[in-house]
Amino acid sequence: MAKKLIPGTNDLATTHPEIAKQADGWDPTTVIASSKKRRSWKCEKEHSWKVGCYNRTGPNRKSCPVCSNQQILAGYNDPMGSAAQQR
Ligand SMILES: [Zn+2]
Repeated sequence: MAKKLIPGTNDLATTHPEIAKQADGWDPTTVIASSKKRRSWKCEKEHSWKVGCYNRTGPNRKSCPVCSNQQILAGYNDPMGSAAQQR
């Protein structure tokens, strides 16, 4: 069921301001949180990745795949990089 976007009421910037801050190169006030279209995101640590808004706001919401250790970024969380330095 497609929902209609009502700016200031159900756009991503209004319903999920913390997630909207990570929008990279697009306007979160023009997108509804349940949108499944893949979009670019950038976390506070400057990692970039692409998922639909739904994947950020729905029941299986995910944060940055690098920060949550679901994706290896060389020199950041790879086994030979930052993790090794912590030992
Ligand atoms: Zn990150």
